[in-house]
Amino acid sequence: MSITKTYDAIIIGSGIIGCNIAFELAKRGWKTINIDRLPGAGHGSTASSCAVIRVHYSTLDGTAMAYESFFYWDKWANYLETKDPDGMAKFIKTGVLVLKCQTNEYLKNTMDLLGELDIPYEEWDFAAIKKRFPILDDASYYPPRRPDDSAFGRKNKNTLPGGVYYPSGGYISDPQLSTHNLQVAAEAYGAEFLFNSQVAAIHKEHHHVSGVTVADGTRINAPVVINVAGPHSFFINRLAGVEDGMKIKTRALRHEVIHIPAPSGFDFEAVGCPSSDRDIGCYWRPEVGNHILCGSEDPDCDPKDWIDDPDVFNRDTTAQARAQAYRLALRIPEIGIPRNIKGVVDLYDVTDDWIPIYDKSALPGFYMAVGTSGNQYKNAPMVGKIMAELIEQCQNGRDHDNDPIQFHLKHQGRSINLAFYSRLREINMESSFSVLG
Ligand SMILES: Cc1cc2nc3c(=O)[nH]c(=O)nc-3n(C[C@H](O)[C@H](O)[C@H](O)COP(=O)(O)OP(=O)(O)OC[C@H]3O[C@@H](n4cnc5c(N)ncnc54)[C@H](O)[C@@H]3O)c2cc1C
Repeated sequence: MSITKTYDAIIIGSGIIGCNIAFELAKRGWKTINIDRLPGAGHGSTASSCAVIRVHYSTLDGTAMAYESFFYWDKWANYLETKDPDGMAKFIKTGVLVLKCQTNEYLKNTMDLLGELDIPYEEWDFAAIKKRFPILDDASYYPPRRPDDSAFGRKNKNTLPGGVYYPSGGYISDPQLSTHNLQVAAEAYGAEFLFNSQVAAIHKEHHHVSGVTVADGTRINAPVVINVAGPHSFFINRLAGVEDGMKIKTRALRHEVIHIPAPSGFDFEAVGCPSSDRDIGCYWRPEVGNHILCGSEDPDCDPKDWIDDPDVFNRDTTAQARAQAYRLALRIPEIGIPRNIKGVVDLYDVTDDWIPIYDKSALPGFYMAVGTSGNQYKNAPMVGKIMAELIEQCQNGRDHDNDPIQFHLKHQGRSINLAFYSRLREINMESSFSVLG
């Protein structure tokens, strides 16, 4: 075993969250290294992200975090203070449409939260929705069903009344490129990155984390180690021996996102926007080549495909893809469903309540930004900021477990209590317990 350099912090993982933490720590003068087993930044689950930027969440804190992050995506190049020679990811700011239905109680809670945070929104009846999206049908099919259910496609008596549209949302053109943008921005502040290197051991000295060893035997030392390993987060927490002390835990969940052509003759790529439809249990957004990306919103009818070993899972689409396509066809009757449905299959890193953990651990110096539950790509800028603050304060002696940090959200003039993301919290019953967070 050879000892290499010593750093202020080792960040395990260089997905969108790990790279944003590197950027925020490096700006504060920390000497950081991101270690990733893959060949480049954003090559893990981030690469499969639909990269939808939306602000509506089930909780006030979740909504406030997403709205605050929106301002950084909106001024991405300014925020990064640098230009990536590979190009900059683009924020395609289409706004977001959420359909009102029985399952989301016609968006009463969503409108309350948007109103409380002064986030501009409009209520549209279905005639207004059809004006912008003539391809959408207003029939209600609640509850979402599988195509092999004999009641699949049975219309309810009442149609959908309309939805809520807000302009502060859209999607990022290329999630992997956005992560590379962050790497370049962090490197400009001296951050380092080590790829093709798997963390195989985490070391402790005098009950404090002291560094890691990677698979080739190289040892890297630091008084701070941060677990940002995405769907492998539970494994890293076990390596560090901190999982047992956590009330909220993480595990990997397999998900499929389909990629199908929009109805011919309708330029969905130009006019479409990310949309959420709990009546059929799906979300969708436009994609290049006039395609539609569509994922499941985890309705009860969809079985949960929990994965014990994140290195071993089926990356091909299955009957789940067909179920999503058939449900989407209820809302967009003109879509053609290809015989072989293409798509992306990857893992969410899910917590018990689908709200992430951004926290310290029982092992001094060991931190985690994990359990992003399929919905935290958009929050990366704010996760970078809150983790940098949390780590700095805890390293300076703050007892965050008993005296939680309040983080100021400068664009909203309010604070968020970071106990919201604690590993020691009780399960948050306000959550949707789905990808909606
Ligand atoms: C199909 C899909 C669609 C999604 N859509 C959206 C969306 O529309 N909007 C949204 O906000 N969020 C979305 N998400 C969620 C979002 O993409 C994730 O929350 C986010 O990308 C997680 O980033 P991360 O950096 O935590 O993890 P990752 O990108 O998974 O990065 C973790 C890294 O850790 C590395 N690693 C793991 N173990 C080790 C080890 N032992 N040693 C070294 N390196 C290691 C991995 O190689 C990986 O690169 C989606 C997720 C998926 C899977």
